[in-house]
Amino acid sequence: MDSLLTQDEISFKKDVRDFVKKELLPHVEEWEEREQYAVESVKKFADYGLLGILVPPEYGGLGGTTMEYLIASIEIAKASVSLAAIFGSPAGIFTDAILKFGTEEQRKQYVPPAIAGDKIACFALTEPAAGSDASKVETTAVKDGDEWVINGSKAFITAGNVGDVIMVFASIDRSLGAKGITAFLVEKDNPGFSVGKVERLLGLHASSAAELFFKDCRVPASAMVGEPGKGLRIAFSSLDLGRIHCAGQAIGLADAALEATLAYTAEREQFGRPVGEFQGVQWMLADMSIQLDASRLLTYRAARMADAGKRYTAEAAKAKLHASEMAQQLATKAVQLHGGYGCTKDMPVERYYRDAKLIEIYEGTSEIHREVIARSLRS
Ligand SMILES: Cc1cc2nc3c(=O)[nH]c(=O)nc-3n(C[C@H](O)[C@H](O)[C@H](O)COP(=O)(O)OP(=O)(O)OC[C@H]3O[C@@H](n4cnc5c(N)ncnc54)[C@H](O)[C@@H]3O)c2cc1C
Repeated sequence: MDSLLTQDEISFKKDVRDFVKKELLPHVEEWEEREQYAVESVKKFADYGLLGILVPPEYGGLGGTTMEYLIASIEIAKASVSLAAIFGSPAGIFTDAILKFGTEEQRKQYVPPAIAGDKIACFALTEPAAGSDASKVETTAVKDGDEWVINGSKAFITAGNVGDVIMVFASIDRSLGAKGITAFLVEKDNPGFSVGKVERLLGLHASSAAELFFKDCRVPASAMVGEPGKGLRIAFSSLDLGRIHCAGQAIGLADAALEATLAYTAEREQFGRPVGEFQGVQWMLADMSIQLDASRLLTYRAARMADAGKRYTAEAAKAKLHASEMAQQLATKAVQLHGGYGCTKDMPVERYYRDAKLIEIYEGTSEIHREVIARSLRS
């Protein structure tokens, strides 16, 4: 698949791979076992410049491309999807939303510390009663003099328990429905902000997903991102980029699962020969490779369209949907081909199997992606 990348992209991929091998891989098992957000990884990403891939140099970034962001997502996810999730928000949706919709003051205040790893950034849209239907956000923001007073709660927020700055989507007028939803930046020491339960998740054990509470939480008028009532537009625009990142997570995971399975089936002997020599196994490996290639092609297309400045909502949805379902199916086959040992924590495929399921759910479930794609066919 490298034939579809430029020479610069191939050397960028090699650099990220070297970084992952040196700085992340030696710690992955320990961080996953600990079942806490691997806060140490944030500085490592930052020091290597990775959090600023998409950020213009005037705000301290590399001024890179969506394709490079995708390449980094894949390479990091090959080591750990948790770490790719940690990388994704500051390097992607959070900074993207501020760069596209924020004021110059907000860009200067929030983007450099987020990509330097000095402040952990979160993106808080989901609520206990508003998941797939984000237009039903119940958190409210009411104007009081020069301030906004936020009340409500958020659910499943990645890094919510360790975050320093949170992009919160709240309604300034619930009678307006989706058109009342507005984005605000809340800092963790804003009075009235608190962290609730940190979920114990099936997978992504080195990341976190937390409940957040806002009780008469006051922010200045300057904390509003974009225009009043344009919050969902901001969220959905940044989630297009997030979908490319999620597809990258799935591709990285599947790539690692296929590599592990090829190695294991070449070594494991039954009936006097490596199990990888049986045709039944070879066909499974062939199918895994085809599906992985298909996801990669769909995702490269979405990234290339983003870099060409074209609208890529449906392409990103197709990439995320295909790649997350592919990764889940491929990880299932990987465990199958490892037999009983694949069900133990001694084998990395056990983690791939658990992590793959989550990618099908966050940043929009498969069902919602099918809706987005079907809508694009009608328009
Ligand atoms: C690990 C993790 C990290 C997360 N991080 C974040 C984060 O940082 N920020 C954030 O805002 N959110 C985050 N989320 C939340 C995530 O985006 C939501 O869980 C997801 O959008 C689904 O919402 P829900 O869980 O409320 O499911 P629901 O919306 O309640 O859906 C339940 C089921 O119904 C199906 N369904 C719903 N509507 C339809 C429909 N119209 N047609 C067909 N089927 C439908 C769904 O596909 C699903 O299968 C995270 C979630 C997880 C698990």
